[in-house]
Amino acid sequence: SKCLKGDNFSSGELLRFGNIELSPSSGILNYGQGLFEGLKAYRKQDGSILLFRPEENALRMRTGAERMCMPAPTVEQFVEAVKRTVLANKRWVPPTGKGSLYIRPLLMGSGAVLGLAPAPEYTFLIFVSPVGNYFKEGLAPIHLIIENEFHRATPGGTGGVKTVGNYAAVLKAQSAAKAKGYSDVLYLDCVHKRYLEEVSSCNVFVVKNSVISTPAIRGTILPGITRKSIINVAISQGFEVEERLISVEELLDADEVFCTGTAVVVSPVGSITYLGKRVSYGDRKVGVVSQQLYTALTKLQMGLSEDKLGWTVELK
Ligand code: PMP
Repeated sequence: SKCLKGDNFSSGELLRFGNIELSPSSGILNYGQGLFEGLKAYRKQDGSILLFRPEENALRMRTGAERMCMPAPTVEQFVEAVKRTVLANKRWVPPTGKGSLYIRPLLMGSGAVLGLAPAPEYTFLIFVSPVGNYFKEGLAPIHLIIENEFHRATPGGTGGVKTVGNYAAVLKAQSAAKAKGYSDVLYLDCVHKRYLEEVSSCNVFVVKNSVISTPAIRGTILPGITRKSIINVAISQGFEVEERLISVEELLDADEVFCTGTAVVVSPVGSITYLGKRVSYGDRKVGVVSQQLYTALTKLQMGLSEDKLGWTVELK
């Protein structure tokens, strides 16, 4: 069996949200041959709608499709489909400052396979839902626990792409953490069990003496679009930013820790628990660097500051 290549996706139709039909022997159900993306549409004060860097999601899906042996929509097809879906659901985009419309594109092996192999057919679909804050804390600090037993990704695995199985792998640790009152889990690398990787659904940053560091992308971490954007914003605001290996010990004397992602935007971390010991940051207050970057990014995303880099796409 070969990987299917190409971008032979039809223009698609708009359907009311509901169940879809799928072969019991589809590639997605049996072998997890699926990828997803996540992006948000924000309402501007003039009523128009903004997407944030949707072509980055399209490119990440294409990179993931290569890893998962799937064909993928072109960047143009992806962005057009997102625009069409959002415009059809315009009334569900909340007012400025009241949340956003979360957009979930999915690419899956929908064709039937019996023995392990890439599926013979693929389906690309998008669904949307209005959302508020990801963590119940909002911009208040979140509390993480470092996982010592389970890992999210292994070198050579699929951690660097947004495939569905990566999320199945974190459900157990994440549920256990939430049951104990933590907001989420911070994962370490599985080789040394020492270097920070990322949280279940966001990237992590550490601030020390105004230098901002984040784990370098090494195939086991998802290259977050918010991560990339925050690095850019921080540099343009005069911060020094390092992408490197960050050991768990560095958390002990960090000034601030924060997470980034489409869903979590910029979420300050109030405490991290590791091997039963808890390190706290900011005395229950949001750190100055986290706050500054949060404000800069959300203003851009909501069209409240000038988009000098052309990161937003306006829909009428
Ligand atoms: N890491 C993981 C594992 C994620 O699921 C996400 C959310 N897509 C991120 C990081 C952040 O990526 P982005 O900023 O593109 O949403």
